[in-house]
Amino acid sequence: MVRVFCASLATETNTFSPMPTGMDDYDIIRAHERMDEDDESILNRETVFRRLSEERGWEFVMSLSAFAQPAGKTVRYVYESLRDEILADLRAALPVDIVFLPLHGSMIADGYDDCETDMIHRVREIVGPNAKIGVHLDPHCDVTEQMCEEADAIILMKEYPHSDGVPRAEELFAIIADAHQGKVQPVMRMHDCRMIGLFMTPVQPMRGFVDRMHEREGESGVLSCSLVHCFPWADVATTGTRTLVIADRDAALAERVAEELAAELFQIRHHVAATSRPMAETFRRALAIDRGGKPVVIADQADNPGGGAPSDSTFVTRYLIEQGIGDTCIGLFWDPIAVRIAFAAGEGAELEMRIGGKMGPSSGDPLDLRVKVMGLQRDMEQIIDWGENEHRIPLGDACALRTAQEIDLVLISKRTQLLTPQVFRHFGLEPEKRSLLIVKSTQHFYGSFAPIAAEVLYMSAPGAIPPQFTEIPYQNVDLHKFPWLDDPFAAG
Ligand SMILES: [Zn+2]
Repeated sequence: MVRVFCASLATETNTFSPMPTGMDDYDIIRAHERMDEDDESILNRETVFRRLSEERGWEFVMSLSAFAQPAGKTVRYVYESLRDEILADLRAALPVDIVFLPLHGSMIADGYDDCETDMIHRVREIVGPNAKIGVHLDPHCDVTEQMCEEADAIILMKEYPHSDGVPRAEELFAIIADAHQGKVQPVMRMHDCRMIGLFMTPVQPMRGFVDRMHEREGESGVLSCSLVHCFPWADVATTGTRTLVIADRDAALAERVAEELAAELFQIRHHVAATSRPMAETFRRALAIDRGGKPVVIADQADNPGGGAPSDSTFVTRYLIEQGIGDTCIGLFWDPIAVRIAFAAGEGAELEMRIGGKMGPSSGDPLDLRVKVMGLQRDMEQIIDWGENEHRIPLGDACALRTAQEIDLVLISKRTQLLTPQVFRHFGLEPEKRSLLIVKSTQHFYGSFAPIAAEVLYMSAPGAIPPQFTEIPYQNVDLHKFPWLDDPFAAG
């Protein structure tokens, strides 16, 4: 009987974030605590591996899954103890034929610049050279050469927003299952694009590049093509954009396709990044747009908790107040203390409150405002529908507050990025009718906000994850790359 082992330990580490990631930041589900698999959206990728294993009559052993909202480095003992728990489960499950590791790919802990490399290496040591290891990653990751040597297949999601977790997990399963049965022999090669970037895939020319990767997977011998977007706020030596290709037995083919795709991406480098404008310019433009009654959606990218920012920055709200701009909804502020005060005051109360600006200089100064409590919600969730899967994301206790000039702020107690205007609707704030909607998110908001927007603008306000890469204070990244150099290949 084929025995499959699966474990997940995932977070995205922003080495510039002021908040360490500790044990309490991880949502951990252990094998014996596992409920009905359909209840847990966090288990999506694992659910795919389980379903497909069981369809083949294979035994499926699930270890723990742990996920933390992006923030700073994971504390050393936290990483080591979660990792060692997984490795102990793996030893107990031996002999194992196949291991699936749905990870993030950009996890850093104190003492470990690349947790995934460390994890895969230790798993390989335990299972031996013949077991097959399949790794499923977020494209905002760092894939090292050692990972490519020690794993059998690594597949990344291709879409940003990441709507294709399930089909990519199914592809990974198919390749690993075929490898186990000796039908294929996957070999992986990467090619360095010498870039750092953010690549929004719903719009051209990135849309075309993703389609191109799918197209090349149709070629004989090519098993999978991925783009390692990289996570730009990780100050480690290996950060950078790469193509990753898996071929059947043919390393030269993998190398050639990886190089050709890298060259294609490099060709369009000036056109693939979203234009992130400074704050004042963004608002000038937003107010000049003929909205046709629809809101202009503005992404406050620098305070996206999904990239490790605190999401309590006040720069944008302060600017709106100073400029007398109203009729705006803003979310989501992470401010559990303010939420608690709003609950104490009660719905409809008007009071002076101190909001945001608590986590450090990148959050700005707190705002002292007179607000009305528009709504309160215990244990709120945002529900999003990406592809075939509904995700329910807990926001903790939440409140909506209105300022005198009709700026509505939604505050939450569990730090998460805003993904759907449903959160505003829930409080009766009517997002479709407002002039401006400001979301603390880099791109994941796009799928549900773009359809109601007159236009989507990407903004580079001050904050913990500046979207202008040349402003990131790297110490360790080799900057012999675009956009520091227009053509790093020509420069030698
Ligand atoms: Zn990502």
